[in-house]
Amino acid sequence: MSTPLVLVHGGAGDVPEASRAAHAEGCRLAALAGGKILSTGGSVIDAVTAAVAVLEDNPAYNAGVGCALTRSGRVSLDTAIMCGKTRDAAGLAALDAFPNPVKIARKMLHAPEVLLVGQPASEWAERNGFNRVPEDELTTEAARLQWHRVVDQGESPNFAGGTVGAVARDADGNLAAATSTGGTMGKQSGRVGDSPLIGAGTYADEVCAVSATGVGEAFMRSVFAARLSDAVRFGKEPGEALQVMLERVRDFFDGVGGAILITPDSDPHAFWTTVGMSHGWWTPDENGKGI
Ligand code: ASP
Repeated sequence: MSTPLVLVHGGAGDVPEASRAAHAEGCRLAALAGGKILSTGGSVIDAVTAAVAVLEDNPAYNAGVGCALTRSGRVSLDTAIMCGKTRDAAGLAALDAFPNPVKIARKMLHAPEVLLVGQPASEWAERNGFNRVPEDELTTEAARLQWHRVVDQGESPNFAGGTVGAVARDADGNLAAATSTGGTMGKQSGRVGDSPLIGAGTYADEVCAVSATGVGEAFMRSVFAARLSDAVRFGKEPGEALQVMLERVRDFFDGVGGAILITPDSDPHAFWTTVGMSHGWWTPDENGKGI
């Protein structure tokens, strides 16, 4: 028997001191939402979906409401989900404004396609019962201001506000992972990051479940999440594997970030090479913790 667990992150970066408590609390509430699913007999897939949806609805993070914008000021969303037991996976990239992209990925889990992009991805979502919303509904004042600073004033985009993700485990040790993001602020239209790519920013099998955040290009080039899973599969201690692989992304692929990882019997593991990464977890004994 495994201890059920939901572990979430709210993005790696440098969250201003004044916002840190809100970010931590948002993670606690998301983990709690996932825990509620598990404790009422729901699946790990539904638990990560619920946890990520709570983070997408929270304007503090860069996913769903509050997402980063493209160079031309448009919404373009990336998300993925994966079931460790069946290895079913679904990702949508450069998606139009939909309130909870992770729910679309959840719905796509049993479709033959693993990745849909751009307009056809949005059309698939509509055909499957999801409604586009005006971009303004997902665009916060804070996101607009940051967009101006990056696009008009040339400030470097950092990851404060963050991509969101969740991993979950049930009592049988089944695992799942999901990630959702608006990507990098001021990104080239059509740019896709690591989050919706299975094996880069999101991955789950029977060995571990991973959700990453950070400089997507570096995580893609290092094939981060799948390699991390293999490191654990071939005997590396999970916490050490996470740290080593993130340092590798930083030192060999020139990108900072963070990730969360669980195995069928591990503690919750979180590590980052940025200033910080808000995260939180739920277990049946601990009614939600946020950091
Ligand atoms: N990894 C995301 C991307 O590159 C960004 C982030 O984690 O903040 O799209």
